[in-house]
Amino acid sequence: RTQTDELLERRANAFSRGMSAGQPVFAAKAKNSEIWDVEGRRFIDFGGGIAVLNTGHRHPLVMKRVYEQLERFTHTCLMVTPYEPAVMLAEKLNAIAPIAGPKKTMLVTTGAEAVENAIKIARAATGRSDVVVFSGAFHGRTLLTMAMTGKVVPYKTRFGPFPPGIWRVPYPIEHKGISVDDTFEAFKWLFKTDVDPKAVAAIVIEPVQGEGGFYVASKELLQRLRALCDEHGILLIADEIQSGFGRTGKWFAMEHSGVEPDLITTAKSLAGGFPLAGIVGKAAVMDAPEPGGLGGTYAGNPVACAAALGVIEAFETEDLLEKSLRQGEAILKRLKAIRRRKTGRPIGDVRGLGGMTAFELVTAHGGGDPDAAAAKALAADCLDRGLMILTCGVFGETVRLLAPLTIQPRVLKEGLDILEEALVSP
Ligand code: PLP
Repeated sequence: RTQTDELLERRANAFSRGMSAGQPVFAAKAKNSEIWDVEGRRFIDFGGGIAVLNTGHRHPLVMKRVYEQLERFTHTCLMVTPYEPAVMLAEKLNAIAPIAGPKKTMLVTTGAEAVENAIKIARAATGRSDVVVFSGAFHGRTLLTMAMTGKVVPYKTRFGPFPPGIWRVPYPIEHKGISVDDTFEAFKWLFKTDVDPKAVAAIVIEPVQGEGGFYVASKELLQRLRALCDEHGILLIADEIQSGFGRTGKWFAMEHSGVEPDLITTAKSLAGGFPLAGIVGKAAVMDAPEPGGLGGTYAGNPVACAAALGVIEAFETEDLLEKSLRQGEAILKRLKAIRRRKTGRPIGDVRGLGGMTAFELVTAHGGGDPDAAAAKALAADCLDRGLMILTCGVFGETVRLLAPLTIQPRVLKEGLDILEEALVSP
């Protein structure tokens, strides 16, 4: 009986079964793109937890800032005794957010809180209540963000009733026959039959859907959404919790389209593994709530803010945006080459934006239906061979590859070699 067996049993007894068990690997140590477990096994990490480690595990610049902050203080509460690292971070976020004019920021702790607060701000700024979201969207696990999330099993099962005023339109997926026109046809009917657009505070979109399957929003979709929002006085919120902070080769994925949202949510990779989330937006919108209406005991924790400053420094000194673009291109090229071999597990659509890359498993070479069981089996097989990958998509049929942008080329190659072997020789 291994230590892992024992820990698995203790974990199952100690934790609610509502928190999924995860992989049978208990982490002991991690550095950049590698994790070692309690048995001493080594894994290459293409998951980053759940898409958190654009700068890898324990980046030296992040650790330096964190240690310095740990020596000073770890908590005072941003709304009681403020501190400079939070101010510096807000100034940075305001500077890099792809929105013209004066901007302001608020900091919280988790992605779901960032989305919840973006909705609160949008409501305060517009005096309206309703929200339009997309099929396949994932916005979090709190009551409001769960309601905004598309997938029912397991995220919404047994958790109703849900807050009112949330409407859903299809996210265009060209290769599945859902066009941008279909989305706007749905908007037309929604506004005609269900909700007056003048009651809608915000449309919330992930410019690259994360949990939903790594679908990239087209420039046309984003431009038409911007125009629709402008026509009806609706705010456009880009949920960049997964696509943001350099993952796609820009600070925020919206930059690829040139379309400006009114508010952007960010979390995950923002603080290199420390819990921190933010909302950046037009100053007039961000200032709509009354003083004290926004915040939280741990909002903008000083150690997490210091870590985020280290993350930004790492991006700036190591040219990580450019590396993300190059990494994405190399991975997509490799995946397409593996697909052409037509051996082993069949690969369907291969897609991505910058270093946010994914591929679908299907039932037959050159076509077939989505195959979630194959994706699950592939992930387990890769884990046995020393590579951690994550699935996503409505059924879990898609595999996402999120190697740290700081990964050494030889480790990236080693990881892709393992993936190829697991694909062609299952
Ligand atoms: N929004 C998006 C796009 C996400 O991908 C996630 C997490 O996967 C969230 C919101 C929720 O973030 P958190 O799990 O930190 O609450």
